[in-house]
Amino acid sequence: MKIIDGKKIANDIKEEIAQEVAAIREAGGKIPHLAAIIVGHDGASETYVGHKEKACNQVGFNSTVFRFEDDVAEDTLLRRVHDLNEDPEIDGFIVQLPMPKHISEQKIIEAIDPKKDVDGFHPINLGRMVIGLPAYISATPAGIMELIKRYNIETLGKDVVVIGRSNIVGKPMSILLGQKANPGNATVTMCHSRTKNLKEVVLRADIVVAALGRAEFLTADMVKEGATVIDVGITRVKSDKTKSGWKLLGDVKFDEVAEKAEYITPVPGGVGPMTIVSLLQNTLKASKGEIYPK
Ligand code: NAD
Repeated sequence: MKIIDGKKIANDIKEEIAQEVAAIREAGGKIPHLAAIIVGHDGASETYVGHKEKACNQVGFNSTVFRFEDDVAEDTLLRRVHDLNEDPEIDGFIVQLPMPKHISEQKIIEAIDPKKDVDGFHPINLGRMVIGLPAYISATPAGIMELIKRYNIETLGKDVVVIGRSNIVGKPMSILLGQKANPGNATVTMCHSRTKNLKEVVLRADIVVAALGRAEFLTADMVKEGATVIDVGITRVKSDKTKSGWKLLGDVKFDEVAEKAEYITPVPGGVGPMTIVSLLQNTLKASKGEIYPK
């Protein structure tokens, strides 16, 4: 069994980005600038935005966070999105989800200029990805593809099972692994809460991507010997063994599945760090006009 060390790969990529930013600075070019909009005081959202800010600092990007209270009007947010779309200093921005109930997340996402949509949530970016055009790919699937690439995990002709069909993880992941590309060219089955005989389906998989958000759902009896297991899930559970009083659990029962898997990602330290790095990579691409020429 080999552990896929997402933390190490993420640090290597951050180092590569930092060197590129240093060279841009040296040449007097524009420093990439990522902005984030956050609404309310949800603990997990605050943590994610904090991690993203820290990562920007580490690689030398500029970053700005726009904070709004829970009762902010949708129009106010739409105006901020519009201003960021128009601001030449900002290369890309994200809107941290979830939003409060009175805000239409879809309306906000569709208001983002696809050229600055570094989270890859806009239908134009999703659509472009589906037909194989250059696009911002949402950070978690992009990070998983990078891990597969850097660990030289063969996907061609393999049976892949993705558990979860969300727009930000399960669906894009299924499409990317089935695409005519390397990594890709796999035979993909996308499972969800209505899938029948999930265990039988997963047992056939050479590669399993667990993205359903149920702590320790995937047990050893569901996994084929020698499979690659990618654990996307993050569930915060109370713990009296940590200083914070919380610990993070993945969707995979790590200890027992690790004994059967050839490759496995841990939680934390697997997919999570890669998600943030993909956002940095997308921001760098935005600042260089790599996806949509400036
Ligand atoms: P989501 O809640 O939008 O989607 C969950 C999906 O799982 C749904 O499509 C549902 O049909 C499916 N599902 C639920 N129960 C199931 C069951 N019993 N059997 C089969 N399928 C089932 O979740 P999401 O946004 O895709 O996130 C999934 C998990 O990944 C969450 O734990 C989330 O916190 C985590 N996540 C982690 C990162 C990261 O950076 N590591 C990024 C995004 C999401």
